[in-house]
Amino acid sequence: MPAFEPDYVFFEPRALEYPLGQELMERFKEQDVPIQMTTSHNQVRGIPGDTPTAAYRNAKRTFVVGVRKTLKFDTSKPSAEYAIPLATGCMGHCHYCYLQTTLGAKPYVRTYVNLDDIFEQAKKYIDERAPELTRFEAACTSDPVGFDHITQSLYKAIEFMGQQKYGRLRFVTKYHHVDHLLQAQHNGHTRFRFSLNADYVIKNFEPATSSFQDRITAAGKVAKANYPLGFILAPLIRFDGWKEGYTELFERLDKELIADARKDLTFELIMHRFTKTAKRVILDRYPKTKLEMDEEQRKYKWGRYGRGKYVYQNDEAQELREYVQDLIKQAFPEAKIEYFT
Ligand code: SF4
Repeated sequence: MPAFEPDYVFFEPRALEYPLGQELMERFKEQDVPIQMTTSHNQVRGIPGDTPTAAYRNAKRTFVVGVRKTLKFDTSKPSAEYAIPLATGCMGHCHYCYLQTTLGAKPYVRTYVNLDDIFEQAKKYIDERAPELTRFEAACTSDPVGFDHITQSLYKAIEFMGQQKYGRLRFVTKYHHVDHLLQAQHNGHTRFRFSLNADYVIKNFEPATSSFQDRITAAGKVAKANYPLGFILAPLIRFDGWKEGYTELFERLDKELIADARKDLTFELIMHRFTKTAKRVILDRYPKTKLEMDEEQRKYKWGRYGRGKYVYQNDEAQELREYVQDLIKQAFPEAKIEYFT
């Protein structure tokens, strides 16, 4: 899959006061991408599309260059103290993407160019907690690797955090365009995680993201660049042939990862679940999806504020959990399973 290049670009005027904003303007002008100015990202108008589906697809091919005004970072418990805001939105079309319910009708990629302000704020948070480590998650509202060949913001965040004795960065990606990040001076302060799944799941439910093979090859490169490495396997799905599918995933990973990477490897595992709201949004956006979301076959798990989820039945969940845990233990006995939910 080629690296993402947008079809439509919008600039907030203040973005041009920053060097990155100016660089991006030059880049898009050279490429002859249609550029429009917008007073604020909430005012983005003119993304074409005769139907809501077409407008949504085009919005996913749109890039908005803006300034981050709020410098108060959101918390990102339990895996990090803060979410570091580099961008929002994503060009991927994963049927179960969490952004579909959180970003709604504004799925475009919006990147922030006032990186110095953002890093300065991160430094304040680090200083407040020192000598405790402060961890920042860069992929709470986006997949920043997928367009970092355009902005280099993630690259800069990695190098910034590499210089922070008490700061750590983490992010997760479904993209394989990592080559420029291999050169970054990370000093072991960034955990580079890949979201992986069985080939069947990636092919059927994750359009416009990198393939199974490409992600695994990229993980191998990241391991060789001495980054602490991690994998999020989510959602784990009981599709027809799931045991073979997940076995193949671990066989491929086992072949790809060098010995050094195995000593500090993390796994985060999340079984498939859905809410009524998410199901409605998914069927609206991807009406032909093969994603199984049959309430009758699931167990209802009560949640806070009445927002319950449909999860696998106990015996099915246990079988899935044991099977995947065994695969991890066999291939990577030193790896840490951070959670399995
Ligand atoms: Fe959402 Fe991640 Fe897929 Fe992008 S790659 S659509 S952020 S799940």
